Amino acid sequence: MDKKVRVRFAPSPTGPLHIGGVRTALYNYLFARQHGGSMILRIEDTDSTRFVPGAEEYINEALQWLGIGIDEGVREGGEYGPYKQSERRDIYRRYVKQLLDNGKAYIAFDTPEELEAKRAEVKNFQYDASTRMGMRNSLSLPAEEVKALIDAGEKHVVRFLIEPNRDVVVHDLIRGDVTINSSILDDKVLYKSADDLPTYHLANIVDDHLMEVSHVIRGEEWLPSAPLHVLLYEAFGWEEPQFVHLPLLLKPDGKGKLSKRDGDRLGFPVFPLEWHDPKSGDTSSGYREAGYLPEAVINFLALLGWNPGDDREIMSMDELIRDFSFEHCSKSGAKFDFEKGKWFNHEYLMNMDNDRLAELFKPILTENGVNVADFSDEYIAAAAGMVKNRINFVRDLWDNARFFFVAPTTYAEKDVKKRWKEETPQLMRELIEVLKPLNFDDAVATEEAVMEWIKGNEYHMGNVMNAFRLTVVGECKGPHMFEITQLLGKDETLARIERGIANIIRPEA
Ligand code: GLU
Repeated sequence: MDKKVRVRFAPSPTGPLHIGGVRTALYNYLFARQHGGSMILRIEDTDSTRFVPGAEEYINEALQWLGIGIDEGVREGGEYGPYKQSERRDIYRRYVKQLLDNGKAYIAFDTPEELEAKRAEVKNFQYDASTRMGMRNSLSLPAEEVKALIDAGEKHVVRFLIEPNRDVVVHDLIRGDVTINSSILDDKVLYKSADDLPTYHLANIVDDHLMEVSHVIRGEEWLPSAPLHVLLYEAFGWEEPQFVHLPLLLKPDGKGKLSKRDGDRLGFPVFPLEWHDPKSGDTSSGYREAGYLPEAVINFLALLGWNPGDDREIMSMDELIRDFSFEHCSKSGAKFDFEKGKWFNHEYLMNMDNDRLAELFKPILTENGVNVADFSDEYIAAAAGMVKNRINFVRDLWDNARFFFVAPTTYAEKDVKKRWKEETPQLMRELIEVLKPLNFDDAVATEEAVMEWIKGNEYHMGNVMNAFRLTVVGECKGPHMFEITQLLGKDETLARIERGIANIIRPEA
Protein backbone atom coordinates (compact mmCIF):
# COMPACT_ATOMS: atom_id res chain seq x y z
CA MET A 1 0.00 0.00 0.00
CA ASP A 2 1.64 3.24 -1.11
CA LYS A 3 -0.49 5.71 0.83
CA LYS A 4 -0.35 5.84 4.60
CA VAL A 5 -3.39 4.13 6.05
CA ARG A 6 -5.66 6.62 7.78
CA VAL A 7 -9.18 5.57 8.65
CA ARG A 8 -11.96 7.24 10.54
CA PHE A 9 -14.97 6.26 12.54
CA ALA A 10 -17.46 9.07 12.04
CA PRO A 11 -20.52 8.65 14.22
CA SER A 12 -23.26 11.24 14.57
CA PRO A 13 -24.08 11.90 18.23
CA THR A 14 -27.78 11.27 17.76
CA GLY A 15 -28.16 8.60 20.43
CA PRO A 16 -26.31 5.63 21.85
CA LEU A 17 -23.88 3.91 19.53
CA HIS A 18 -25.61 0.89 18.03
CA ILE A 19 -23.77 -2.45 18.10
CA GLY A 20 -23.50 -2.27 14.28
CA GLY A 21 -21.65 1.03 14.68
CA VAL A 22 -19.33 -0.64 17.15
CA ARG A 23 -18.51 -3.29 14.57
CA THR A 24 -17.74 -0.55 12.02
CA ALA A 25 -15.41 1.09 14.53
CA LEU A 26 -13.78 -2.27 15.22
CA TYR A 27 -13.08 -3.06 11.56
CA ASN A 28 -11.61 0.40 11.09
CA TYR A 29 -9.42 -0.14 14.13
CA LEU A 30 -8.25 -3.62 13.05
CA PHE A 31 -7.36 -2.35 9.60
CA ALA A 32 -5.52 0.69 10.96
CA ARG A 33 -3.50 -1.35 13.44
CA GLN A 34 -2.67 -4.02 10.89
CA HIS A 35 -1.13 -1.39 8.63
CA GLY A 36 0.48 0.73 11.30
CA GLY A 37 -1.95 3.47 10.31
CA SER A 38 -4.04 5.99 12.23
CA MET A 39 -7.54 5.69 13.60
CA ILE A 40 -9.52 8.91 13.70
CA LEU A 41 -12.71 9.50 15.66
CA ARG A 42 -14.67 12.30 14.01
CA ILE A 43 -17.89 13.56 15.51
CA GLU A 44 -20.38 14.35 12.75
CA ASP A 45 -22.73 16.73 14.47
CA THR A 46 -23.85 18.99 11.65
CA ASP A 47 -27.49 18.06 12.06
CA SER A 48 -28.25 20.10 15.14
CA THR A 49 -31.88 18.98 15.17
CA ARG A 50 -30.81 15.42 15.91
CA PHE A 51 -28.19 16.18 18.54
CA VAL A 52 -28.63 14.21 21.77
CA PRO A 53 -26.83 15.26 24.96
CA GLY A 54 -24.52 12.60 26.33
CA ALA A 55 -24.19 10.73 23.05
CA GLU A 56 -20.61 11.84 22.39
CA GLU A 57 -19.48 10.84 25.89
CA TYR A 58 -21.25 7.54 25.39
CA ILE A 59 -19.32 6.87 22.18
CA ASN A 60 -15.99 7.58 23.89
CA GLU A 61 -16.81 5.44 26.87
CA ALA A 62 -18.00 2.53 24.76
CA LEU A 63 -14.91 2.50 22.55
CA GLN A 64 -12.68 2.75 25.58
CA TRP A 65 -14.44 -0.12 27.35
CA LEU A 66 -13.99 -2.29 24.28
CA GLY A 67 -10.33 -1.41 23.82
CA ILE A 68 -10.84 0.23 20.42
CA GLY A 69 -8.07 2.78 20.60
CA ILE A 70 -8.31 6.18 18.96
CA ASP A 71 -5.23 8.00 17.69
CA GLU A 72 -6.80 11.30 16.69
CA GLY A 73 -10.01 12.82 17.93
CA VAL A 74 -11.70 15.44 20.06
CA ARG A 75 -10.12 14.09 23.26
CA GLU A 76 -6.90 12.79 21.74
CA GLY A 77 -6.13 15.84 19.62
CA GLY A 78 -4.10 15.55 16.42
CA GLU A 79 -2.82 17.58 13.53
CA TYR A 80 -5.97 17.48 11.45
CA GLY A 81 -8.43 18.97 13.95
CA PRO A 82 -10.85 20.15 15.01
CA TYR A 83 -12.37 16.67 15.00
CA LYS A 84 -15.89 17.84 15.65
CA GLN A 85 -17.72 19.07 12.58
CA SER A 86 -19.67 21.82 14.31
CA GLU A 87 -16.29 23.45 14.97
CA ARG A 88 -15.32 23.40 11.30
CA ARG A 89 -17.87 25.84 9.85
CA ASP A 90 -15.23 28.14 8.35
CA ILE A 91 -13.65 25.28 6.52
CA TYR A 92 -16.92 24.11 4.98
CA ARG A 93 -17.93 27.62 4.00
CA ARG A 94 -14.73 27.87 1.93
CA TYR A 95 -15.44 24.66 0.09
CA VAL A 96 -19.07 25.51 -0.54
CA LYS A 97 -17.88 28.75 -2.08
CA GLN A 98 -15.39 26.88 -4.23
CA LEU A 99 -18.15 24.70 -5.68
CA LEU A 100 -20.35 27.75 -6.32
CA ASP A 101 -17.50 29.67 -7.97
CA ASN A 102 -16.76 26.72 -10.24
CA GLY A 103 -20.39 26.27 -11.27
CA LYS A 104 -20.60 22.86 -9.58
CA ALA A 105 -23.30 23.97 -7.18
CA TYR A 106 -26.03 26.59 -7.06
CA ILE A 107 -28.14 28.49 -4.58
CA ALA A 108 -31.79 27.59 -4.11
CA PHE A 109 -34.47 29.62 -2.34
CA ASP A 110 -37.42 27.24 -2.43
CA THR A 111 -39.17 27.23 0.90
CA PRO A 112 -40.26 23.97 2.55
CA GLU A 113 -43.86 24.89 1.64
CA GLU A 114 -42.96 25.43 -2.01
CA LEU A 115 -41.18 22.10 -2.13
CA GLU A 116 -44.13 20.43 -0.47
CA ALA A 117 -46.53 21.94 -3.03
CA LYS A 118 -44.31 20.73 -5.85
CA ARG A 119 -44.26 17.21 -4.44
CA ALA A 120 -48.02 17.23 -4.23
CA GLU A 121 -48.30 18.47 -7.81
CA VAL A 122 -45.65 16.34 -9.55
CA LYS A 123 -45.62 12.62 -8.94
CA ASN A 124 -42.19 11.33 -7.77
CA PHE A 125 -40.84 14.86 -7.84
CA GLN A 126 -37.07 15.07 -7.69
CA TYR A 127 -35.02 18.28 -7.64
CA ASP A 128 -32.75 17.58 -10.63
CA ALA A 129 -31.86 18.47 -14.20
CA SER A 130 -35.41 17.87 -15.36
CA THR A 131 -37.05 20.13 -12.78
CA ARG A 132 -34.52 22.63 -11.44
CA MET A 133 -35.25 25.32 -14.02
CA GLY A 134 -38.84 25.43 -12.82
CA MET A 135 -37.72 26.14 -9.24
CA ARG A 136 -36.46 29.27 -7.51
CA ASN A 137 -32.68 29.13 -7.68
CA SER A 138 -29.59 30.89 -8.98
CA LEU A 139 -29.85 29.00 -12.28
CA SER A 140 -33.45 29.95 -12.98
CA LEU A 141 -33.53 33.50 -11.55
CA PRO A 142 -31.73 36.58 -12.89
CA ALA A 143 -28.44 37.32 -11.14
CA GLU A 144 -29.67 40.64 -9.66
CA GLU A 145 -32.63 38.94 -8.09
CA VAL A 146 -30.42 36.27 -6.58
CA LYS A 147 -28.16 38.94 -5.14
CA ALA A 148 -31.11 40.92 -3.82
CA LEU A 149 -32.59 37.88 -2.13
CA ILE A 150 -29.28 37.03 -0.44
CA ASP A 151 -28.75 40.63 0.63
CA ALA A 152 -32.23 40.65 2.11
CA GLY A 153 -31.23 37.68 4.24
CA GLU A 154 -33.53 35.22 2.49
CA LYS A 155 -32.99 31.68 3.75
CA HIS A 156 -31.38 29.50 1.13
CA VAL A 157 -29.53 26.27 0.56
CA VAL A 158 -26.71 25.28 -1.73
CA ARG A 159 -27.46 22.35 -4.00
CA PHE A 160 -25.04 20.14 -5.87
CA LEU A 161 -25.49 20.35 -9.65
CA ILE A 162 -25.75 16.79 -10.84
CA GLU A 163 -25.31 16.14 -14.52
CA PRO A 164 -27.91 13.62 -15.68
CA ASN A 165 -27.28 10.37 -17.45
CA ARG A 166 -23.77 9.58 -16.43
CA ASP A 167 -22.53 6.27 -15.15
CA VAL A 168 -21.07 6.74 -11.71
CA VAL A 169 -18.83 3.96 -10.46
CA VAL A 170 -18.11 3.32 -6.81
CA HIS A 171 -15.02 1.15 -6.40
CA ASP A 172 -15.64 -0.90 -3.30
CA LEU A 173 -13.14 -3.29 -1.78
CA ILE A 174 -15.80 -5.79 -0.73
CA ARG A 175 -18.39 -5.32 -3.47
CA GLY A 176 -16.22 -4.58 -6.49
CA ASP A 177 -17.44 -1.86 -8.86
CA VAL A 178 -20.96 -0.64 -8.18
CA THR A 179 -22.34 1.44 -11.06
CA ILE A 180 -25.40 3.68 -10.97
CA ASN A 181 -26.82 6.23 -13.36
CA SER A 182 -26.59 9.82 -12.16
CA SER A 183 -30.18 10.52 -13.30
CA ILE A 184 -31.51 8.73 -10.25
CA LEU A 185 -29.72 11.22 -7.98
CA ASP A 186 -31.25 14.51 -6.92
CA ASP A 187 -29.40 17.80 -6.55
CA LYS A 188 -28.50 17.17 -2.93
CA VAL A 189 -28.48 20.00 -0.43
CA LEU A 190 -24.88 20.60 0.63
CA TYR A 191 -25.30 23.60 2.87
CA LYS A 192 -28.08 25.45 4.71
CA SER A 193 -27.87 29.17 5.40
CA ALA A 194 -30.37 28.80 8.23
CA ASP A 195 -27.81 27.27 10.58
CA ASP A 196 -24.74 28.09 8.51
CA LEU A 197 -23.82 24.43 8.42
CA PRO A 198 -23.12 21.94 5.67
CA THR A 199 -25.10 18.72 5.38
CA TYR A 200 -23.60 15.33 6.05
CA HIS A 201 -22.46 14.75 2.46
CA LEU A 202 -20.35 17.85 2.09
CA ALA A 203 -18.85 17.83 5.55
CA ASN A 204 -18.10 14.14 5.29
CA ILE A 205 -16.15 14.27 2.05
CA VAL A 206 -14.40 17.56 2.80
CA ASP A 207 -13.19 16.11 6.07
CA ASP A 208 -12.18 12.79 4.58
CA HIS A 209 -10.12 14.71 2.08
CA LEU A 210 -8.57 17.18 4.52
CA MET A 211 -7.89 14.50 7.10
CA GLU A 212 -6.21 12.44 4.37
CA VAL A 213 -8.43 9.45 4.97
CA SER A 214 -7.18 6.57 2.83
CA HIS A 215 -10.07 4.11 3.39
CA VAL A 216 -13.69 4.95 4.07
CA ILE A 217 -14.90 1.89 5.96
CA ARG A 218 -18.56 2.14 6.94
CA GLY A 219 -21.84 0.28 7.03
CA GLU A 220 -23.69 -0.80 3.91
CA GLU A 221 -26.44 1.69 4.69
CA TRP A 222 -24.10 4.40 3.37
CA LEU A 223 -23.57 2.74 -0.02
CA PRO A 224 -26.45 4.73 -1.61
CA SER A 225 -24.61 7.94 -0.67
CA ALA A 226 -21.35 6.81 -2.21
CA PRO A 227 -22.10 7.76 -5.88
CA LEU A 228 -22.86 11.29 -4.74
CA HIS A 229 -19.59 11.31 -2.83
CA VAL A 230 -17.72 10.10 -5.90
CA LEU A 231 -19.21 13.00 -7.88
CA LEU A 232 -18.24 15.45 -5.14
CA TYR A 233 -14.63 14.24 -5.19
CA GLU A 234 -14.68 14.74 -8.93
CA ALA A 235 -16.17 18.23 -8.64
CA PHE A 236 -13.39 19.23 -6.28
CA GLY A 237 -10.76 17.49 -8.38
CA TRP A 238 -9.70 15.36 -5.41
CA GLU A 239 -8.51 11.79 -5.35
CA GLU A 240 -11.12 9.42 -3.93
CA PRO A 241 -10.42 7.33 -0.86
CA GLN A 242 -10.87 3.59 -1.14
CA PHE A 243 -14.49 2.76 -0.28
CA VAL A 244 -15.41 -0.26 1.83
CA HIS A 245 -19.06 -0.90 2.68
CA LEU A 246 -19.50 -3.51 5.37
CA PRO A 247 -22.35 -6.02 5.37
CA LEU A 248 -25.45 -5.17 7.38
CA LEU A 249 -26.18 -6.75 10.72
CA LEU A 250 -29.45 -8.64 10.30
CA LYS A 251 -32.12 -9.74 12.72
CA PRO A 252 -31.48 -13.18 14.23
CA ASP A 253 -33.86 -14.77 11.70
CA GLY A 254 -32.11 -12.98 8.85
CA LYS A 255 -35.24 -11.07 7.88
CA GLY A 256 -34.26 -7.42 7.75
CA LYS A 257 -31.89 -5.09 9.51
CA LEU A 258 -31.19 -5.54 13.22
CA SER A 259 -32.99 -2.86 15.19
CA LYS A 260 -33.31 -1.72 18.76
CA ARG A 261 -36.77 -3.25 18.83
CA ASP A 262 -35.36 -6.74 18.10
CA GLY A 263 -33.24 -6.43 21.21
CA ASP A 264 -36.25 -5.46 23.33
CA ARG A 265 -38.37 -8.17 21.76
CA LEU A 266 -35.85 -10.99 22.06
CA GLY A 267 -34.19 -9.87 25.27
CA PHE A 268 -30.63 -9.02 24.31
CA PRO A 269 -28.73 -5.73 24.25
CA VAL A 270 -28.10 -3.93 20.98
CA PHE A 271 -25.95 -1.28 22.63
CA PRO A 272 -22.46 -1.68 24.10
CA LEU A 273 -23.30 0.17 27.32
CA GLU A 274 -26.54 0.84 29.12
CA TRP A 275 -28.18 3.99 27.79
CA HIS A 276 -30.49 6.34 29.61
CA ASP A 277 -32.44 8.33 27.11
CA PRO A 278 -32.45 11.94 28.29
CA LYS A 279 -35.76 12.69 26.57
CA SER A 280 -37.95 9.67 27.18
CA GLY A 281 -36.23 8.61 30.40
CA ASP A 282 -36.12 5.04 29.02
CA THR A 283 -33.19 2.77 29.77
CA SER A 284 -31.82 0.40 27.15
CA SER A 285 -29.63 -2.48 28.25
CA GLY A 286 -25.96 -2.68 27.34
CA TYR A 287 -23.46 -5.50 26.96
CA ARG A 288 -21.27 -4.18 29.75
CA GLU A 289 -24.06 -4.07 32.33
CA ALA A 290 -25.46 -7.39 31.13
CA GLY A 291 -22.20 -9.00 32.24
CA TYR A 292 -20.27 -9.33 29.00
CA LEU A 293 -16.52 -9.13 28.85
CA PRO A 294 -15.22 -6.59 26.36
CA GLU A 295 -12.95 -9.17 24.72
CA ALA A 296 -15.90 -11.52 24.20
CA VAL A 297 -17.95 -8.73 22.59
CA ILE A 298 -15.02 -7.85 20.33
CA ASN A 299 -14.53 -11.46 19.27
CA PHE A 300 -18.26 -11.92 18.66
CA LEU A 301 -18.55 -8.73 16.59
CA ALA A 302 -15.40 -9.41 14.60
CA LEU A 303 -16.96 -12.60 13.26
CA LEU A 304 -20.23 -10.94 12.25
CA GLY A 305 -19.44 -10.32 8.61
CA TRP A 306 -15.85 -11.53 8.54
CA ASN A 307 -14.14 -14.90 9.00
CA PRO A 308 -10.47 -15.80 9.30
CA GLY A 309 -10.68 -18.20 6.33
CA ASP A 310 -10.46 -21.24 8.61
CA ASP A 311 -12.55 -22.60 11.46
CA ARG A 312 -11.02 -20.57 14.27
CA GLU A 313 -13.56 -18.84 16.47
CA ILE A 314 -11.79 -17.71 19.61
CA MET A 315 -9.48 -14.91 18.58
CA SER A 316 -7.78 -12.23 20.61
CA MET A 317 -7.56 -8.61 19.50
CA ASP A 318 -3.95 -9.22 18.45
CA GLU A 319 -4.91 -12.18 16.29
CA LEU A 320 -7.76 -10.21 14.77
CA ILE A 321 -5.40 -7.37 13.94
CA ARG A 322 -3.00 -9.80 12.33
CA ASP A 323 -5.54 -11.79 10.31
CA PHE A 324 -8.30 -9.31 9.43
CA SER A 325 -8.88 -8.77 5.71
CA PHE A 326 -11.59 -7.36 3.49
CA GLU A 327 -11.28 -10.40 1.20
CA HIS A 328 -12.90 -12.45 3.92
CA CYS A 329 -15.70 -9.99 4.58
CA SER A 330 -19.03 -11.13 3.25
CA LYS A 331 -21.16 -9.14 0.83
CA SER A 332 -24.40 -10.39 2.31
CA GLY A 333 -25.71 -9.38 5.69
CA ALA A 334 -24.62 -11.15 8.88
CA LYS A 335 -27.29 -12.66 11.11
CA PHE A 336 -27.04 -11.45 14.65
CA ASP A 337 -26.78 -14.74 16.52
CA PHE A 338 -27.23 -13.67 20.09
CA GLU A 339 -26.76 -17.18 21.52
CA LYS A 340 -23.35 -17.19 19.92
CA GLY A 341 -22.58 -14.00 21.81
CA LYS A 342 -23.34 -15.80 25.07
CA TRP A 343 -21.18 -18.69 24.00
CA PHE A 344 -18.25 -16.34 23.43
CA ASN A 345 -18.71 -14.89 26.88
CA HIS A 346 -18.80 -18.37 28.37
CA GLU A 347 -15.59 -19.33 26.59
CA TYR A 348 -13.78 -16.20 27.73
CA LEU A 349 -14.92 -16.63 31.33
CA MET A 350 -13.96 -20.29 31.35
CA ASN A 351 -10.47 -19.45 30.16
CA MET A 352 -10.03 -16.45 32.38
CA ASP A 353 -7.32 -16.34 34.95
CA ASN A 354 -8.85 -17.02 38.41
CA ASP A 355 -7.39 -13.90 39.99
CA ARG A 356 -9.03 -11.65 37.43
CA LEU A 357 -12.28 -13.54 37.79
CA ALA A 358 -12.10 -13.09 41.57
CA GLU A 359 -11.88 -9.32 41.13
CA LEU A 360 -15.04 -9.39 39.02
CA PHE A 361 -16.71 -11.65 41.59
CA LYS A 362 -16.02 -9.46 44.62
CA PRO A 363 -18.64 -6.77 43.93
CA ILE A 364 -21.22 -9.49 43.38
CA LEU A 365 -20.31 -11.10 46.70
CA THR A 366 -20.69 -7.75 48.42
CA GLU A 367 -24.04 -7.19 46.74
CA ASN A 368 -25.17 -10.50 48.17
CA GLY A 369 -24.21 -9.60 51.70
CA VAL A 370 -20.88 -11.40 51.90
CA ASN A 371 -18.13 -9.58 53.75
CA VAL A 372 -15.35 -9.98 51.22
CA ALA A 373 -12.71 -9.15 53.83
CA ASP A 374 -13.52 -12.43 55.61
CA PHE A 375 -12.02 -14.36 52.71
CA SER A 376 -8.55 -14.30 51.21
CA ASP A 377 -8.03 -13.41 47.56
CA GLU A 378 -6.76 -16.95 47.00
CA TYR A 379 -9.94 -18.40 48.47
CA ILE A 380 -12.21 -16.27 46.27
CA ALA A 381 -10.09 -17.04 43.21
CA ALA A 382 -10.16 -20.78 43.91
CA ALA A 383 -13.94 -20.76 44.46
CA ALA A 384 -14.55 -18.84 41.23
CA GLY A 385 -12.10 -21.04 39.35
CA MET A 386 -13.90 -24.21 40.40
CA VAL A 387 -17.21 -23.16 38.85
CA LYS A 388 -16.09 -21.02 35.94
CA ASN A 389 -16.82 -23.69 33.36
CA ARG A 390 -20.49 -23.55 34.37
CA ILE A 391 -21.20 -19.86 33.81
CA ASN A 392 -22.15 -17.60 30.91
CA PHE A 393 -21.93 -14.37 32.92
CA VAL A 394 -19.91 -13.21 35.89
CA ARG A 395 -23.11 -12.81 37.87
CA ASP A 396 -23.79 -16.57 37.45
CA LEU A 397 -20.85 -17.08 39.80
CA TRP A 398 -23.10 -16.34 42.74
CA ASP A 399 -25.58 -19.15 42.08
CA ASN A 400 -22.78 -21.59 41.40
CA ALA A 401 -20.35 -20.69 44.16
CA ARG A 402 -22.40 -19.12 46.94
CA PHE A 403 -21.96 -22.18 49.17
CA PHE A 404 -18.25 -21.38 49.45
CA PHE A 405 -19.25 -18.20 51.26
CA VAL A 406 -22.47 -19.04 53.05
CA ALA A 407 -23.26 -22.44 54.53
CA PRO A 408 -26.57 -23.86 53.35
CA THR A 409 -29.52 -23.30 55.67
CA THR A 410 -32.05 -24.92 53.38
CA TYR A 411 -31.68 -28.06 51.35
CA ALA A 412 -33.05 -28.78 47.88
CA GLU A 413 -36.32 -30.59 48.47
CA LYS A 414 -36.08 -32.84 45.46
CA ASP A 415 -32.58 -33.97 46.42
CA VAL A 416 -33.56 -34.59 50.02
CA LYS A 417 -36.41 -36.74 48.87
CA LYS A 418 -34.16 -38.78 46.65
CA ARG A 419 -31.00 -39.05 48.76
CA TRP A 420 -31.80 -38.60 52.43
CA LYS A 421 -32.82 -42.08 53.57
CA GLU A 422 -33.66 -43.34 56.97
CA GLU A 423 -30.14 -44.60 57.53
CA THR A 424 -28.46 -41.48 56.15
CA PRO A 425 -27.94 -39.60 59.46
CA GLN A 426 -26.11 -42.61 60.85
CA LEU A 427 -23.97 -42.87 57.71
CA MET A 428 -23.09 -39.19 57.95
CA ARG A 429 -22.03 -39.68 61.57
CA GLU A 430 -19.73 -42.45 60.42
CA LEU A 431 -18.44 -40.24 57.64
CA ILE A 432 -17.48 -37.58 60.16
CA GLU A 433 -15.37 -40.15 61.98
CA VAL A 434 -13.74 -41.20 58.72
CA LEU A 435 -12.95 -37.60 57.83
CA LYS A 436 -11.72 -36.43 61.22
CA PRO A 437 -8.18 -37.86 61.05
CA LEU A 438 -7.63 -36.92 57.38
CA ASN A 439 -5.56 -34.13 55.93
CA PHE A 440 -8.04 -32.16 53.77
CA ASP A 441 -5.31 -30.39 51.85
CA ASP A 442 -4.76 -33.61 49.97
CA ALA A 443 -8.01 -33.98 48.03
CA VAL A 444 -6.94 -37.24 46.41
CA ALA A 445 -6.06 -38.89 49.71
CA THR A 446 -9.31 -37.69 51.27
CA GLU A 447 -11.25 -39.14 48.39
CA GLU A 448 -9.42 -42.46 48.59
CA ALA A 449 -10.11 -42.81 52.29
CA VAL A 450 -13.80 -42.07 51.84
CA MET A 451 -14.08 -44.47 48.90
CA GLU A 452 -12.41 -47.20 50.89
CA TRP A 453 -14.90 -46.70 53.72
CA ILE A 454 -17.88 -46.83 51.34
CA LYS A 455 -16.64 -49.89 49.47
CA GLY A 456 -15.45 -51.70 52.58
CA ASN A 457 -18.96 -51.43 54.02
CA GLU A 458 -20.69 -52.02 50.70
CA TYR A 459 -22.62 -48.77 51.06
CA HIS A 460 -24.48 -47.26 48.13
CA MET A 461 -21.95 -44.89 46.56
CA GLY A 462 -24.48 -42.54 45.00
CA ASN A 463 -26.60 -42.18 48.08
CA VAL A 464 -23.72 -41.60 50.45
CA MET A 465 -21.87 -39.14 48.27
CA ASN A 466 -25.01 -37.21 47.38
CA ALA A 467 -26.11 -37.01 50.97
CA PHE A 468 -22.64 -35.74 51.85
CA ARG A 469 -22.91 -33.14 49.08
CA LEU A 470 -26.37 -32.13 50.25
CA THR A 471 -25.07 -31.24 53.70
CA VAL A 472 -22.12 -29.26 52.35
CA VAL A 473 -23.59 -27.57 49.24
CA GLY A 474 -27.32 -27.64 49.95
CA GLU A 475 -28.11 -29.42 46.70
CA CYS A 476 -26.76 -32.31 44.66
CA LYS A 477 -24.72 -30.42 42.13
CA GLY A 478 -21.48 -28.50 41.91
CA PRO A 479 -17.81 -29.12 41.33
CA HIS A 480 -15.82 -32.12 42.49
CA MET A 481 -16.71 -32.93 46.11
CA PHE A 482 -13.21 -33.30 47.48
CA GLU A 483 -12.01 -30.11 45.83
CA ILE A 484 -14.88 -28.36 47.55
CA THR A 485 -13.95 -29.81 50.93
CA GLN A 486 -10.30 -29.02 50.37
CA LEU A 487 -11.16 -25.35 49.94
CA LEU A 488 -13.75 -25.24 52.74
CA GLY A 489 -11.38 -26.98 55.12
CA LYS A 490 -12.02 -29.67 57.68
CA ASP A 491 -13.75 -27.63 60.41
CA GLU A 492 -16.25 -26.08 58.08
CA THR A 493 -16.96 -29.36 56.28
CA LEU A 494 -17.55 -31.28 59.49
CA ALA A 495 -19.71 -28.49 60.89
CA ARG A 496 -21.85 -28.59 57.76
CA ILE A 497 -22.33 -32.34 57.97
CA GLU A 498 -23.38 -31.99 61.62
CA ARG A 499 -25.80 -29.27 60.71
CA GLY A 500 -27.21 -31.38 57.90
CA ILE A 501 -27.79 -34.27 60.28
CA ALA A 502 -29.61 -31.94 62.65
CA ASN A 503 -31.63 -30.04 60.08
CA ILE A 504 -32.43 -32.19 57.10
CA ILE A 505 -35.81 -33.73 57.59
CA ARG A 506 -36.87 -36.60 55.45
CA PRO A 507 -40.28 -35.98 53.94
CA GLU A 508 -42.98 -38.42 54.94
CA ALA A 509 -43.07 -41.14 52.34
N1 GLU B 1 -22.04 10.30 10.30
C1 GLU B 1 -22.28 9.09 9.58
C2 GLU B 1 -22.80 8.06 10.57
O1 GLU B 1 -23.40 8.44 11.50
C3 GLU B 1 -21.00 8.67 8.91
C4 GLU B 1 -21.11 7.73 7.78
C5 GLU B 1 -19.76 7.56 7.16
O2 GLU B 1 -18.94 6.86 7.79
O3 GLU B 1 -19.50 8.15 6.11
O4 GLU B 1 -22.62 6.89 10.47
